[in-house]
Amino acid sequence: MVTKVKGCKELVSEVIDKDLCCLCGACAGSCPYLVSYRGRIVQLDNCTLSDGQCYQYCPRTFVDIDAISQHVFGEPYSEDELGTVKEVLMARSMDAAIKEKAQYGGTVTTLLSLAMEEGLIDSAILTRTTADKTPEAFLARNTQEVLQSAGSNYMACPILETYNRLPEDNSDKLAIVAVPCQVMAATKMKREQPQHRSSTDNIKLVIGLFCTWALAPDSFHRFLKDNLNLPSVIKFDIPPPPANRFDVYTHSGKVSLPLEEVREFTMPTCAYCLDMTSEFADISVGSVEGIEGWNTVIIRTDNGAKLVEMAEKQGKLETGTLPAESLAHLKEAALNKKKRSLGEIVNKTGNKKDLLYLGLSPALVDRFLS
Ligand SMILES: Cc1cc2nc3c(=O)[nH]c(=O)nc-3n(C[C@H](O)[C@H](O)[C@H](O)COP(=O)(O)OP(=O)(O)OC[C@H]3O[C@@H](n4cnc5c(N)ncnc54)[C@H](O)[C@@H]3O)c2cc1C
Repeated sequence: MVTKVKGCKELVSEVIDKDLCCLCGACAGSCPYLVSYRGRIVQLDNCTLSDGQCYQYCPRTFVDIDAISQHVFGEPYSEDELGTVKEVLMARSMDAAIKEKAQYGGTVTTLLSLAMEEGLIDSAILTRTTADKTPEAFLARNTQEVLQSAGSNYMACPILETYNRLPEDNSDKLAIVAVPCQVMAATKMKREQPQHRSSTDNIKLVIGLFCTWALAPDSFHRFLKDNLNLPSVIKFDIPPPPANRFDVYTHSGKVSLPLEEVREFTMPTCAYCLDMTSEFADISVGSVEGIEGWNTVIIRTDNGAKLVEMAEKQGKLETGTLPAESLAHLKEAALNKKKRSLGEIVNKTGNKKDLLYLGLSPALVDRFLS
């Protein structure tokens, strides 16, 4: 049953006008009124509906974190820094073509390709970098198209608009690869199915990416254009601390930009996000601090565990134990993000009982604010 919620008017006044929009695209593309355009959500006309899925699925409208956790894991929200975890390991692809194009170990691309080969999914909503280096969400239908998405574009991209625009009768078994706010929106959709979808529960696999923040696409793209020869750019990277740089690999060598300069273009909403590791995904993937070419992998659900096990058995993924020091750093970074962001939220509202969008238990609020 779909809960009665507020609509487009409130989405604009409570989220978009307050700079809380994370450009996940969950509100766009399923009605005639909201679309994404040049890095923002634009309202084309007034919508008079008093309740709307645009408001309901937004990751910056009320999130009952325990209810979301119950839906995904069958248990209340975990107090662990990394959320609900079955296993943490490190992994990298065994496929040379994937490793060549991937951001780090190519674990994401490898898992998606395997899921497709095995018929666990038919297609996947992914993000690729266009010729002018902007991010673009698309539906990948085969492993060649999955490979097009390898590599990270650090600008926010409205991937869920692509989901919303799938034909109503699309019954593909889908995967999505998403940063934490997008994972939250997708989880809200999975919990209360969109009305316009004939097939329910078609998102079969959610691979979440670690994310400290994402960049505002329009202004950051302009900055890149002013500072670089964009056609020669091959890859972007943010090496782990203490590097403090944003690396751009080009056909004529590497250009490093100071991270402070790049941080100016962070989406304002990222300051209010507590989730660094995509806590509600089946599998979450990030870098391994200090070990190049490998990914940290957090397995969270049975579904995720089966896929990783299959990838190991078939020799698609090489796995290893994540060094204790790397795990400790990851936990520290994830906890710091929770503390920092909750502090920002309370600073904004001036009241620890008003957490903007977040429904978190008072005990956890006190823990993160201590
Ligand atoms: C905005 C952003 C911030 C990140 N911050 C961190 C961080 O702080 N720490 C960390 O360890 N890792 C971070 N990552 C994740 C990291 O960059 C890699 O994506 C991850 O380690 C997987 O590596 P891989 O080699 O398996 O990826 P690949 O196999 O190369 O696959 C990359 C996947 O990323 C997806 N993707 C690319 N750009 C975007 C985008 N803009 N939005 C959504 N999906 C996208 C593609 O669809 C593709 O499936 C971030 C990623 C993004 C997009």
